[in-house]
Amino acid sequence: MKTEVTFGGVTVQPGEIGFGSLIDVELKDGTVVKLPIIVMNGAEDGPKFVVSGAVHGSELIGAEVVRRVLREKVDPKKLKGLVVGIPISNPLGFQAGNRSAPQDGLFPVINRPGDSGGSITQRMGAAVWDQVTSKMDLRIDIHGNMRPCTAFCLCSLHDPKTRDMNEKMGRATGLTVVYSPPTGTLEGMGGARAEGIKAVYSVSLELIAAGKVTEVSGDLGTRAVLNVMKLWSMIEGEIEKQPEEYVWGPGWVQNAGRIKVNRGGILHFTKDPGEFIKGGETVAKTYNPYGDIVEEIKFPHDGYIRAWAAAHQAVNTGSSIAYITHDE
Ligand SMILES: [Zn+2]
Repeated sequence: MKTEVTFGGVTVQPGEIGFGSLIDVELKDGTVVKLPIIVMNGAEDGPKFVVSGAVHGSELIGAEVVRRVLREKVDPKKLKGLVVGIPISNPLGFQAGNRSAPQDGLFPVINRPGDSGGSITQRMGAAVWDQVTSKMDLRIDIHGNMRPCTAFCLCSLHDPKTRDMNEKMGRATGLTVVYSPPTGTLEGMGGARAEGIKAVYSVSLELIAAGKVTEVSGDLGTRAVLNVMKLWSMIEGEIEKQPEEYVWGPGWVQNAGRIKVNRGGILHFTKDPGEFIKGGETVAKTYNPYGDIVEEIKFPHDGYIRAWAAAHQAVNTGSSIAYITHDE
């Protein structure tokens, strides 16, 4: 028997949608900042799903995907289960247009227990975990990169409790899946490896031009979320393919972390994200202010660049310049 639910101060009946806030925090002048949530309580029983955007405050495309899914695409009268949408998971970073909040230099950790007595952002993260994520069955967290970049889904296979379903969800998104190797660099994404933490099946989406609301990214992200909801039988319909031009590589590639530069200067890219690269090929050149090439950056193995790391192409010694994948 389907019952009402209460999240963020709002009680929502079966087949209805409601709007609330998970926590109030205050800035130095007393200005109250809220953490808005959209609660859709399906008419029938089913899985509990949280979809979040803008954990990195500059990546506003997640807020648009949450809006499309909950305000345009899904009808609560036809939904099986519960969806909690968190359009802006990092309101302070979002205000500033930054990845992290200027107040404490952090972004909220929402996929594992936070610190309800910590800094302003840590308290927001704890509110998301305690009130929402820890009560859910599955989650999708939506991010994005700055152009030039590709769209993809990050899928953690570290945790034996969640790996099989994470893989199914990743494949259902229809995007190229970047999966973590056994000892990869997606630490923390699984969130449930420590004993006693609830396992929540989880993938992250990485969309294109994260700071802009574009049709392409809105469309890719919305289709990915709806596909995962179809996989879990929360809504009716066939899982849809993503447009071919946005699916790259073999569709399933291993995360290989980042590449860094040794010299400072201005970076010129010589390869495109999503383009196959042989090990040893030059992917970028760094110029000094006099116009001399001071470094040619070689790719470490066969694989792909999924996104260039720097929105700004001036780099220091040790700057990360690209997120890369390994071709097996
Ligand atoms: Zn991000």
